Amino acid sequence: MKTLQELTRPNVWALKPYSSARDEYSGVEASVFLDANENPYHAPYNRYPDPLQKKVKALIAPQKHVREEQIFLGNGSDEAIDLVFRAFCRPGIDNVVAIDPTYGMYQVCAEVNDVEYRKVLLDENYQFTAKGLLSASDEHTKVIFLCSPNNPTGNNLCRKEIEALLQQFEGLVVVDEAYADFSDARSFLLDLDSYPNLIVLQTFSKAWGCAAIRLGMAFASPEIIALFNKIKYPYNVNVLTQQEAIVLLQTPDKVKSWVNVLLEERSRLMEEFSKLTCCEKIYPTDANFFLTKVTDAMKIYGYLVNKGIIVRNRTHVALCGNCLRITIGTPEENDTLLDALREMK
Ligand SMILES: *Cc1c(COP(=O)(O)O)cnc(C)c1O
Repeated sequence: MKTLQELTRPNVWALKPYSSARDEYSGVEASVFLDANENPYHAPYNRYPDPLQKKVKALIAPQKHVREEQIFLGNGSDEAIDLVFRAFCRPGIDNVVAIDPTYGMYQVCAEVNDVEYRKVLLDENYQFTAKGLLSASDEHTKVIFLCSPNNPTGNNLCRKEIEALLQQFEGLVVVDEAYADFSDARSFLLDLDSYPNLIVLQTFSKAWGCAAIRLGMAFASPEIIALFNKIKYPYNVNVLTQQEAIVLLQTPDKVKSWVNVLLEERSRLMEEFSKLTCCEKIYPTDANFFLTKVTDAMKIYGYLVNKGIIVRNRTHVALCGNCLRITIGTPEENDTLLDALREMK
């Protein structure tokens, strides 16, 4: 790996971050806060939240088997994705490489930040090779984006190839594990200490049932996390979000039971879906959704919309012609979908 300084934008490396009132005070338990121009009334909303979300991180660290200084929290994983570009990629000069198809936000953030986005097509099993991604990279490639389980395909990427990439690539490797809670594969979180160039993303938006609170996690070396903390907005995670995350992190069994129900429903829905006359193929999945090739994606998508059932039409995505992406719902919702498709002429 290149040094972190070589990978970081020089302006970011040199930056002296904004220092908030809450950053500067630390130490004894204080009771009178006259430092941040807040209103003394309307507790607890009158006070700025903890800029580093220490209580939330203290609960996440043992559950994820990482140290607190290896955790960044943001306004969804989307904030962490954007910070990767802002920290490492010089607009108009650097580039990133990503598998294709994958989650759309990597490309959007690349374009917003004026960073070239290089796509490498997956194979017919939606897998990649380290060699393929490396040959698309050059001396200006700062980051390679992987997503496992991948969206929209649903499958885990091959662990051996991810390891090869982590060992051989000189820059940073992002492994987006938004759907890891639904998969049996070993998380790359457990390998953080082995790979200083690894950034793992996870989120509260999927298995944790908290898409509305906007809370995403990035895990990496303490040095990379310090860079993210330096350039983020000072109060990027609001107090309501921190409170709700703390409540949820104290009942991890609730999340496990949701996941169990969804995995059972996934098997049942896929089994029943495969019997439909409109279904040509179901791709293997390790996530809370599956990709299916159907007879006519446009027509079926429109038919379902008219019945108030919304799935994701992926027909215009690379390697996904006539494919729909279907999220696993409650048993009742899944039955509504199946009944509608059984009735379709
Ligand atoms: C849903 C999803 C996310 C979650 O993004 P948030 O901003 O945390 O809601 C991240 N990555 C992938 C691949 C996703 O599908």
